[in-house]
Amino acid sequence: MSATSASTLVAESVWRDIKSTGLVSCARVYSLHLLFGKNFERATRIVDQRGVKRISGEPSGRSVFQVVGESRKKEEYFCFPEHYCACYSFFYDVVNKGEQLCCKHQLAARLAVSVGACVDVKVSDEQLALLLSKL
Ligand SMILES: [Zn+2]
Repeated sequence: MSATSASTLVAESVWRDIKSTGLVSCARVYSLHLLFGKNFERATRIVDQRGVKRISGEPSGRSVFQVVGESRKKEEYFCFPEHYCACYSFFYDVVNKGEQLCCKHQLAARLAVSVGACVDVKVSDEQLALLLSKL
């Protein structure tokens, strides 16, 4: 088993723990920090700024996240926490180099869901489809 897939498994179990208990304990924060390092610190800052929007289509309930970046321009990136982010780091560090498990936006989205800190936005399914068609 490669280092990456082992740490993916550890990360998944920490996320499951947080989700099932609704608690981000010190031990869990410590594990996440070990796994994600600087990206975890960045992600917590994004969550603290309420920088994670969950856009849900109605009636389907499908959703996409929009996560604010940290640069002064405050760009927002469309993001699927487990599969995809529209940012540069996702393509460069995660997909190309395989050095990171995910980017800070994906991490921020998962963290925000786990601690209930998403800003929820409801749109129609048509509007959601239109947003996704621009990815
Ligand atoms: Zn990203």
